[in-house]
Amino acid sequence: MTFNSQNFPLRPAWIEIDLGRLRRNLKLIRRDLPPQVRLMAIVKDEAYGHGALDAARVALEEGAWGCGLSTLEEAMALRDAGVTAPLLLLGQRHEEELEWCVAHDLTVCVNEPHVLRALAKTAALFGKRVPVHVKVHTGMSRYGVRWDEALPLIERVCAEPSLQLEGVMTHFSQSDERDKSFANLQFARFSEVTAALERAGISVRLKHACNSGGFLDLPHAHQDMVRVGLLMFGVFPSAVCRRIAGIEPVMSVKARVAAIQTLKPGEVVGYGMRYTAPDVRRIAVLPIGYGDGYPRVRNAGGALIRGRRAPLVGGIAMDALMVDVTDIPEVQMWDEAVLMGCQGGEEITVHDLAKLKNSVSYDVFTNWRLRLRRKPVNGGDQAVCGLETAAPK
Ligand SMILES: *Cc1c(COP(=O)(O)O)cnc(C)c1O
Repeated sequence: MTFNSQNFPLRPAWIEIDLGRLRRNLKLIRRDLPPQVRLMAIVKDEAYGHGALDAARVALEEGAWGCGLSTLEEAMALRDAGVTAPLLLLGQRHEEELEWCVAHDLTVCVNEPHVLRALAKTAALFGKRVPVHVKVHTGMSRYGVRWDEALPLIERVCAEPSLQLEGVMTHFSQSDERDKSFANLQFARFSEVTAALERAGISVRLKHACNSGGFLDLPHAHQDMVRVGLLMFGVFPSAVCRRIAGIEPVMSVKARVAAIQTLKPGEVVGYGMRYTAPDVRRIAVLPIGYGDGYPRVRNAGGALIRGRRAPLVGGIAMDALMVDVTDIPEVQMWDEAVLMGCQGGEEITVHDLAKLKNSVSYDVFTNWRLRLRRKPVNGGDQAVCGLETAAPK
């Protein structure tokens, strides 16, 4: 036996990705969508930390038309792994990237005339006619051509023989709140653009606007495709948007008890002495900290152990946090604890963790660090988890 970096034991803190739930969520989303509306799986930033390759693979198997990504590197990783489906690069491309996009058939969003010209030239050099999606900004003021200036840009795409107008899209800045007035204003602006295209005799195969919130709550805006990220991973973007029964979280964060301390009254816990034991207390140490992406809290949050809630005490460290297990006397060394997810009848949701850092679920998901290995479960046996490729076997 050799002892190398391929076969060492995994640390007792990890993330489980339930691919069975991912598949079920996708089936439920697919079933909820009218059959003619396509689904684009948004798998940017390692599928919000879930592992882009697994998420893309399952989504495509469940009928997604293609995947949306943020960076050239993300898209190349999927191509290198053999994904042949359409891959749409959201955001803005630098001209240097365009040759790679054309060589690997990555679809570019065109937001302005410089990239349009450069992409047309590059495609012509490669002897290809490449599909493009024109991004229209309708009020978000991020990427895209303004809605009231979009028609000339789209006409120029149509005039380039090496470009093929495949899509026209926009993005909502608020689709998951009860008040839909700004989303509806954005959609009205987008509809002006698509109506103008029709009048100009320009047909577009894929008009798309909706993210998870829009998919759930703005059915009149579905058009030809919806771009779903968060909901695939089993999380609703807000407390007020429509629910689909059966959607369940895909990610759980776990660690095992790595030390147990018994405190006498008046003794303190952790950096800064932020917790003082009022009486005899039993404290379990979990080997996971803010260096793994847990919010940097003091005396807030907690874990589930033996199916019960153990509150976090003291300040969290980079590599460890302490929870009070006085009321759970059965707790032993190496018991499994859940930092995010379910155990027994209890649950700690991504929204609970988001509250601890005054942020949103997207932020919690994408901040779990890579040193927490992603372990695919329920259908993950044959999978090559996107984040697992370098993992010890
Ligand atoms: C991230 C992103 C989405 C997906 O948003 P969710 O709220 O996760 O569904 C859709 N479209 C664009 C342009 C995005 O950047």
